[in-house]
Parts: sequence; C-alpha cells; structure tokens
Amino acid sequence: MRVGIIGAGVAGLCAAYNLKQNGHDVSLFDKSRGVGGRLSTRYAGAFEYDHGAQYFTVIDPQFASIVQDAVAQGAVARWPGRALYLKTGLLTTDTGAERWVGAPRMNSFAKFLASDLDVVLHCRVQSLKRENDGSWTLIFEDGENGPIQDRGGFEAIICTAPSEQAKLILPETFSGHAEINQTKMDACFALMIGLETPFDIGWDTLRVNNLPVSWLSVNSSKPKRGEAATLVVHASPEWSNQNVDTDRDTITNLMLDVTAALTRLDVSNASHISLHRWLYASVSKSPNKPCLVDTSQNLIAAGDWCLGGRVEGAALSGLAAAEAIDRL
Ligand code: FAD
Repeated sequence: MRVGIIGAGVAGLCAAYNLKQNGHDVSLFDKSRGVGGRLSTRYAGAFEYDHGAQYFTVIDPQFASIVQDAVAQGAVARWPGRALYLKTGLLTTDTGAERWVGAPRMNSFAKFLASDLDVVLHCRVQSLKRENDGSWTLIFEDGENGPIQDRGGFEAIICTAPSEQAKLILPETFSGHAEINQTKMDACFALMIGLETPFDIGWDTLRVNNLPVSWLSVNSSKPKRGEAATLVVHASPEWSNQNVDTDRDTITNLMLDVTAALTRLDVSNASHISLHRWLYASVSKSPNKPCLVDTSQNLIAAGDWCLGGRVEGAALSGLAAAEAIDRL
C-alpha cells in the first residue's frame, strides 16, 4: 500500500521501518528540522544535550530486535550510569530496567531508523482530504518560503502527532476521536547547563520526588558523548503544567537554585544555560490501546500517548499501526 505517515518520531519511524520491510511504499512528513520528535538533541557550541527523552527501556522482543540492529550499527548503547532516587529525604539506588540511549546522541537512534526512508521535513500537516477514489491527500500549512504543495495518492494514513495535535489533523469522521479527547499530556521544562570543567557529583542520574524538579542527569556521562560537561534538569509534570505560562527567567532561576542545592555545583555561572518548554512531554491519561484504527477510512492514530507514554510505548504503538495496515 502507499502509506503516508505524519510525524517522524519513534512511533512514525518504527511504523515506517516495519512497513518498508514488508514491501509497502511509505513517506513520512514532519514539521521539524530533523527526525526524532521528542528523542532529540540540542546543540549549543561545544555543548550537546538530550533535552527530551533521557533513555529508554527495551523489554518487548519486537522492539529489542530493532534496537539490536541499531546497537550493531553503533547508533544505540547501554547507559550504565549511577542512578539514585531521592524520595522524601531518603537517598536510595534507582532500580529498574536497563537504560539504553542513542549514541553518540539521542537522535542517533532516530537517524538510524530513518536512514533508508523517504522523510520530508519542514512541513506541518494542517488537515487530510479524502478524494473521490478514496485516497488521502495531505494539506500543509504555508511554510517559511510560501505555500507547500499538497501530497496525495495515499491509500492509508498513520498520524503519530501528540494527541492534542492529532485531534486537529484527523477529520471529524475519524472513529477514534472520543479516545483522543480523553487523553491527557503534560508539559515539561528542560533546563540545559554546560560547565567549563568536568565534575563528579557521585551520581549520573537523580530522580526526585515532591520538588519542582523531578529529574537531573549528567548528560555527558552517557556513552560516546564528548568532553564537554553537561547537565539536563527536568521539572515535574505537575509543576510544569502549573507554570506553563510563567516567564522563562523565573523558571530558569528557580530550577538553577534547586539544581545547585542538589548537585552542590556553582551552576549560576555556567558557560551555557538554556531552557526549553515541552508542551506535550509525557502522558498522564492514555487510552492504553496499541493504536486507534478506523478501518472504514484507512486512518490510524498512533504514538506514545496510545500506550501510556515513553519511547518503548511509542515504538510499540508504531509497530502496531504497521501491523494494522497489513490487516486493512
Ligand atoms: P513524538 O516524538 O512527539 O513525534 C511526533 C512527531 O510528529 C514530532 O516529530 C512532531 O514534529 C510531528 N508533528 C506533530 N504535529 C505535526 C504536524 N501537524 N505535521 C507534521 N508533523 C507533526 N521516554 C522514555 O522512554 N524515557 C525517558 O527518559 C523520557 N524522558 C522524557 C523527557 C522529556 C522532557 C520528554 C519531552 C519526553 C520524555 N520521554 C521519555 C517520552 C518520549 O520522548 C516519548 O514517549 C517518545 O519520544 C514519543 O514518540 P512519538 O513518536 O510518539 O512522538
């Protein structure tokens, strides 16, 4: 089938990776400058930060087989970081599944998945139009350099945009709207701090409870990263939601204060400090279905939000969407 995929994050890329292996003709469309979606890396001079997803688990065998291919190509590696958890004053080891990361940066995994795929970037899908022959045409918003030509002739569409965006793209007739409307995604402020000299604070990641900040990681402790010493700090979903419109300087200063207290580093004089606001970072209410399929219109909604968030959930949702295409 000729399949159009909206979104080149993990869900869209895993769907396309699988569909291409099964002989389908697939094109991906993404509004961003690069592939990966929330599996992303921010560059600032000598500093690089994975300011979205920090690591991922690999539990499902189908996802494990894709990750193994990426490991063989050097695009993914295990992150054996020293992981601590600070909960109501008690510092313990943060246990859990093995942590995997893109290498040398988080978006390397996305680039690996995309390497053999037809990906069109810088194009924001506004809506979908059903033609008389039943095929779908993607209508784009105007780009920086004027209107972008519609792309048509798709026998099926997979939309992997976050739920709030999917709701606007998919036609009102899509059968999954009730489930999309019940989904809830949360914001997250990500603070990136680059320091002149390397440091060892006794841990590589710290998960925190009951503070505005919920996660700190020494980004430079991940495998194959360069020499530049970097920290990534995430605010909690609750605090980020409450402060989504608070001015950036106030957010930055508060997160710097918490970071200084937890790391005992003089971060206020760091060589580089910047803040990113993710509006749709994590999922607090999910349909808990692999994907939403409208078989009468060959339309599928997929993404991490279908399966409770996280990278592995996104991958499994994308793979389920690819399987649903095979059954259409
Ligand atoms: P996305 O990555 O959001 O991809 C959707 C794509 O659709 C994007 O590239 C977007 O540009 C595109 N798009 C949207 N609208 C349009 C449109 N109209 N037209 C064209 N393209 C469009 N997960 C973990 O497993 N471990 C973690 O440690 C972790 N930490 C996180 C920390 C933060 C701060 C954030 C933000 C996320 C974190 N996650 C983590 C979650 C993880 O990043 C996501 O679950 C996963 O990357 C989602 O993949 P996706 O493909 O479903 O969505």
